[in-house]
Amino acid sequence: MSERTWTNWGRTSRSTPARIVRPRSPEAVARALRRASAEGLGVRPVGAAHSFTALARTDGVLLETRGLAGLRAVDRERGRITVGGGTTIAAVARIADRFGLAFTNLGDIDHQTIAGAIGTGTHGTGGAFGPIASQVVGLQLVTPGGEVLDLAEGDPLLPAARVSLGALGVVTAVTLECVPAFGLAAEERAEPLRPVVEGFAERVAGADHFEFYWFPGTGLALTKTNTRIPAEDVGPQASRMRRFVDDEVMSNGVFELTCRLGRAAPALVPAINRVAARTVAERSYVAPSHEVFTSPRRVRFAESEWAVPLERLPEAFEAFRSALKRSGLRISFPVEVRATAADDSAWLSTSFGRPTGYIAVHCYHRDVRREYFRIAERVLRAFDGRPHWGKLHSRDAADLRTRYPRFDDFLAVRRRLDPGGLLRNTHLDRILGLP
Ligand SMILES: Cc1cc2nc3c(=O)[nH]c(=O)nc-3n(C[C@H](O)[C@H](O)[C@H](O)COP(=O)(O)OP(=O)(O)OC[C@H]3O[C@@H](n4cnc5c(N)ncnc54)[C@H](O)[C@@H]3O)c2cc1C
Repeated sequence: MSERTWTNWGRTSRSTPARIVRPRSPEAVARALRRASAEGLGVRPVGAAHSFTALARTDGVLLETRGLAGLRAVDRERGRITVGGGTTIAAVARIADRFGLAFTNLGDIDHQTIAGAIGTGTHGTGGAFGPIASQVVGLQLVTPGGEVLDLAEGDPLLPAARVSLGALGVVTAVTLECVPAFGLAAEERAEPLRPVVEGFAERVAGADHFEFYWFPGTGLALTKTNTRIPAEDVGPQASRMRRFVDDEVMSNGVFELTCRLGRAAPALVPAINRVAARTVAERSYVAPSHEVFTSPRRVRFAESEWAVPLERLPEAFEAFRSALKRSGLRISFPVEVRATAADDSAWLSTSFGRPTGYIAVHCYHRDVRREYFRIAERVLRAFDGRPHWGKLHSRDAADLRTRYPRFDDFLAVRRRLDPGGLLRNTHLDRILGLP
């Protein structure tokens, strides 16, 4: 691959930018934007390239943000830290920990950059917690015109800029409101699927962080229930405990092998899934929050995820399960089901205005079944589903406008900040309806 050939983590998007730039300061970002504009080239910012959609694709200038990393400021009294936009979640967690602080909640990996993660509405699970962007109390944004804006708490641009799809400018710093460091007591077990689905809202309400995985073709749910505990209750050995669902199922070489086997002999998939689901042992462990929330994902995959109103999750899940059964498709990757609180801090948050349940479908990267994703999309959008901005979907602005009450307000901010369309690409044109 040449220096200029770019591809994302999931291998679902690639391009050959005219130039790749790696600025290390807001001033260098501003210069790169002005130069591209003068040359008539478009620009797309990219973080860790962990989005599956073509958000970062460009044949103009690809602006890599990893040089914009590290601690900028700390406000110990208010538990706030400011980091460069290209700082990875893992690095932010380490920095926060130095000050006895932590993210309130996280998704299931920590490789993303903080600006990239908030930019697509990245979330974890927990009925009382919003997505990561809801912890953002300040942002530094370099606009397409090269102006450096410091958006403090209460700034009217923040609700647009928290989840901005890289369409408003380049985020060079992020201020996060953290919580005191804490531990999690995790419990994982296999349970019959039906009661887990039917009682999903109650399970979410009754736990700090609840989620489940379902292996298609089986009647079992692998449930994960995490309870927040004081940091001092986490023993020194705790983090070395093994975690079945993440370590054994989603991440390791055995799973890669079963995916390959399933690809070579699809008829075996239901049997493989039954074995995988049944071999789950009941397991409990305790570890620092960040180590429980996130784990490595060594098996590469493609993904689509839909956000539905929490109270409709059981009905939506059942409709999806029936449609999948009817299709006869054999899928070896588990379906992941999570929940978050309503989040009105960002206009494009997938949980804007409503407590939300999420259904995520994955495919092994060598065997991406577009048909599987199409089934999920067809069924789940009928439940007022909103696609995760970073995960595969085929929605366009006409449809998305009906799902986001502040969609046009976001577009108005974009028009104001990027009147010349410097940050456009074909994917953004489709989802934002840009002429
Ligand atoms: C293995 C894996 C696990 C995942 N787990 C979860 C999960 O648990 N929960 C969840 O919600 N999502 C999850 N995702 C999705 C992922 O969190 C998002 O796609 C996230 O946006 C990726 O962050 P990134 O740094 O790679 O950003 P990129 O994919 O590089 O960029 C995302 C968007 O942000 C923009 N952007 C990036 N940096 C900047 C910047 N500095 N300024 C302005 N715009 C910028 C880009 O232009 C693009 O529009 C997962 C993805 C993978 C591959």
